[in-house]
Amino acid sequence: MHDYHIHSNFSTDSQMSMEAACEKAIDIGLTDIAFTDHVDFDYPNFDDSFMIDYHEYRIALQKVREKYQDKLTIAFGVEIGLQPHVHQETLNLLNEHPFDFIILSTHVIDHLDMHVGDFCAGKTREQSYERYLKEVYDSVSSFDKYSVYGHLDLIRRYGGYTDNFFRPGEFDDLLNSILKKIIESGHGIEINTSGFRYGLGTPMPTLDILKKYKELGGELITIGSDAHSPEYIGHGFDYALDMLRCAGFRYIANFKQLNPIYVPID
Ligand SMILES: [Zn+2]
Ligand SMILES: [Zn+2]
Repeated sequence: MHDYHIHSNFSTDSQMSMEAACEKAIDIGLTDIAFTDHVDFDYPNFDDSFMIDYHEYRIALQKVREKYQDKLTIAFGVEIGLQPHVHQETLNLLNEHPFDFIILSTHVIDHLDMHVGDFCAGKTREQSYERYLKEVYDSVSSFDKYSVYGHLDLIRRYGGYTDNFFRPGEFDDLLNSILKKIIESGHGIEINTSGFRYGLGTPMPTLDILKKYKELGGELITIGSDAHSPEYIGHGFDYALDMLRCAGFRYIANFKQLNPIYVPID
């Protein structure tokens, strides 16, 4: 089993050393993990603190790769927070380092931070959800260097709206367009179990979206906890695997040098 979305203390919002993450992963029987630390160019009110010192990073990564080489395969990943005006800097960074795996995510829209509440402020649920999905559509239509799209229905975490699921049929055109674009361009999505610890009661995306992705021909999918501390590594994976089986998936993927390797779900 794999955990392909882990933040070490190279991410501003995590205190977990790479070593602590590896120990926990081995403890619970994982064979493959990816460190996917944050790079978000021009994050509002954050200066450049979401940037990583990749010289130090690669030294640390090499160290854990050597230390745990018999037990754990460790991918060199990154989670990119994309915005329309930072494509070039992002591409430069992605071309500069030998990443195994790239998660593309949306964290900031119209220069408004989703996480601190700025994006949803003053918007109805419908306005927030639609603007978010349009932004995701623009990302997958205009940016090609990534492996999987991160936490596809992340907007459900924000805004404090009472109804935080997409109702049947709601936003169908946008969701279909996003998923088709991801599939046609040879990319995938992830199932991200952090939805549990953020009170959504399910991973992201929901089973309905997973089914839609599968029906449209989607095959490429990774599983990740988005852990920022050891106790969440591998969290909720049994549930996520059941969801994948239920949606008809028979494989999950890990990545080496940006190439997917499909592993059967038992
Ligand atoms: Zn994220
Ligand atoms: Zn993350």
